[in-house]
Amino acid sequence: MSKPAAKLARSKKPRRTGVSLRADGAGPVAPGPESLAPRFRDRDYAAESLARRRQWLQSRTGSPANHIANISFDPEILRGNIENAIGVAQVPLGIAGPLMIQGERAHGTFYVPLATTEGALIRSYERGMVTLTHSGGAQALIAKDENHIAPVFEFPDVLTASRFTKWVEQHAAEIRTHAEATTRHGKLLAANCHLTGRQVMVELRFHTGDAQGMNLIVKAADAVCRWIAREQQARFLLFSGLCSEKRAGAGVLFRGKGKTAVAGALLPHRVLKQCLHVTAEELVHVWHATIAGQVRAGAVGLGAHAANGLAALFIATGQDVATLPHAACAITNFELDMNGVYASVTLPGLSIATVGGGTGLPTQREALELLGCYGADKARKFAEITAATVLAGEISMAAALASGDFAAAHERYGRNRPRRLR
Ligand code: NAP
Repeated sequence: MSKPAAKLARSKKPRRTGVSLRADGAGPVAPGPESLAPRFRDRDYAAESLARRRQWLQSRTGSPANHIANISFDPEILRGNIENAIGVAQVPLGIAGPLMIQGERAHGTFYVPLATTEGALIRSYERGMVTLTHSGGAQALIAKDENHIAPVFEFPDVLTASRFTKWVEQHAAEIRTHAEATTRHGKLLAANCHLTGRQVMVELRFHTGDAQGMNLIVKAADAVCRWIAREQQARFLLFSGLCSEKRAGAGVLFRGKGKTAVAGALLPHRVLKQCLHVTAEELVHVWHATIAGQVRAGAVGLGAHAANGLAALFIATGQDVATLPHAACAITNFELDMNGVYASVTLPGLSIATVGGGTGLPTQREALELLGCYGADKARKFAEITAATVLAGEISMAAALASGDFAAAHERYGRNRPRRLR
């Protein structure tokens, strides 16, 4: 090879791009663009492994991550909840209450743990809770309880696709058997077909007990689809997009996703004046005056800020926070009543759990225990408390707008000018 050709060949060698230190601190490793997971030995949850990862990270970033390192429990229990673990993200936790609920499952007075960094949020929810409590408590119930997943099957033409929908109807019992063979708690309620061109979306509707159920129904749906694919020589994808998982959509309002929880209460004139400093007419006017804006915004649902209370409660109790886009599709209503205002909230997309997911982690479990909601046979109770909490937040925000206190309250409680971290 001539000298210039050799130089060219050398220059075409791939550049070394990857990290040169091993994440476990044991020296150089081969570079490459592949996932960090093998270097991090991501399924290793020993405290020393977390420490080695932090040391490695410090060598790259200069940050010691001292607070992130502050774990109060054996990190082994993080298995199944996170990969490449380095520590914990501490989120401030407060309580709001008293919240009196006269629910089908939740009875009594509750103090609700909310994890947030938004000043004024807890004070605001608390004001709504006190109002509900002075009004005799919120009623709460679960109107529907099912999670779904909708795989899509593809066919050569529309006629074949249409024949398939009938085949699914005729084989409902076998479909149920294949689904329920994968889980003890998941129950298949129905398999509904939605023919769309030459595709068929098979909406599998499950009861998932006290689990949020996505892992459970994914496993069950996968077993069903593999069986159908073999029987019908059809191709499938496990997700069609119909199920609104982690996406806002009108389908959430119409079909629900997880639990449909409803809470309502009559707020008497006396309580409105005493707790919220507003009249019934002023409160209802706020609700009415904000309809047009929400319509113009193309809002999915109608309400004030369900996402605020939901996010704080989800973080505190180990729910999958990424379900907020569909969980926060709420419908809030304020109606004038002879005796005051009837306030209600309907949450058709509550994907929540008291078993599985992040609910068993130490602080998350403790937060559920504060509500008497950890473990089996507690999910409906927890959903009722969640709906009543959201109702409290809707009442409080509407009242703050009506009385003109909204900006001042945030100025008082919710400002965070930069300060030094110690
Ligand atoms: P999981 O933690 O994967 O499993 C919980 C398991 O607990 C259930 O499968 C069930 O086992 C068992 N169990 C024990 N007692 C139960 C009871 N009383 N009620 C219900 N189940 C009980 O949780 P998951 O709820 O199925 O899934 C939630 C997680 O899925 C969340 O962390 C979420 O982030 C994640 N996720 C997954 C996907 C996905 O595509 N896979 C999508 C979104 C979210 P049996 O099944 O044997 O009965």
